[in-house]
Amino acid sequence: MKFKVHNQAKFARRGELELSKGNINTPAFMPVGTNGTVKSLTVDDLNDTGSEIILGNTYHLMLRPGDKVIKDLGGLHKFSNWKKPILTDSGGFQVWSLGDLVKITEEGVSFQSPYDGDKIFMKPEDSIKIQENLGSDIIMVFDECTDYPSAHQDAKESMELSMRWAKRCKDAHSSKAALFGIVQGGMYTDLREESLNQLIDIDFDGIAIGGLSVGESKEEKTSILEFLADKMPADKPRYLMGVGKPEDIVEAVRYGIDMFDCVLPTRNARNGQLFTSFGVLNIRNAPNRHDDSPVDPLCECKVCKNYSRAYLNHLSRTNEMLGSMLSSFHNIFYYQTLMKDIRDAISNDRFANFVKDFYNKQNLDMPDGPI
Ligand SMILES: [Zn+2]
Repeated sequence: MKFKVHNQAKFARRGELELSKGNINTPAFMPVGTNGTVKSLTVDDLNDTGSEIILGNTYHLMLRPGDKVIKDLGGLHKFSNWKKPILTDSGGFQVWSLGDLVKITEEGVSFQSPYDGDKIFMKPEDSIKIQENLGSDIIMVFDECTDYPSAHQDAKESMELSMRWAKRCKDAHSSKAALFGIVQGGMYTDLREESLNQLIDIDFDGIAIGGLSVGESKEEKTSILEFLADKMPADKPRYLMGVGKPEDIVEAVRYGIDMFDCVLPTRNARNGQLFTSFGVLNIRNAPNRHDDSPVDPLCECKVCKNYSRAYLNHLSRTNEMLGSMLSSFHNIFYYQTLMKDIRDAISNDRFANFVKDFYNKQNLDMPDGPI
């Protein structure tokens, strides 16, 4: 993997990640393909939205159909027909989400399969092996997501366990895939710094920020991004995991983040929430029933070109599959267009104007921060 930064506006970077299955223009958004599919979208759809990389979920795929099944069928790319790069998460976040049902020791985690009740034990080394079986292009280390809120001592112990696991992941990693480390440390800047320094020592291909979007306030999240902005290695891609709304992405780019993933555009689409240049549109609301205009007059996607708000309102209210498909397509297209606009603005030295214009149109207050 190679990473180049082409342009910079304060901390915001416009770059390019080179992987054997294709290049990724950054800042990049990665649609989430939980079960080997970005819900409601075909591979052709994903290509038409401008997506250059998608995310696969280790936890879900190892349980069903099983990573060995996928390996025997030629890997996740061949299995799903997605030919561009895939980043796989480590399963750590999903296991952490099981709460009391999971037991964590130095060696690894044990939990019950929610599908058949089987007892599963997973070590950091297993997570790397599973991701290699899937044929991932970017592998994430197996970590423990720190609970929110956490006392300093608890967050410290959790972070230190994650760093010992990160080293074990690095030692176990044997494929050509890139390997990213994950900064933990809860809401404590001293722990975040310690975690980042340990990851830099172990030497990963990229640095991710984990343990955010777990219930903390916006101010807490921003303070972690602000703290890390000038400390993360300049020559490596930076990935903010699980974020977020369009305004969260624009803000994080200002602090130098290059990669994002989030289920929001597809999940919200299925609930009738559409992202537009002028804010969120709830397509199920009554006024849309008679509205012949497109979802977003500034959007050039096939949905906005060919269908009305009234039709999407009808599809959503009758729970038609096509409603989810069209809404998901528009939302991912909106996110990818936002990323392209961000990249163009940084390249053309007008990022500050872009950010002001974005908040203006979204009718949101622009948060303080570098620009
Ligand atoms: Zn559209």
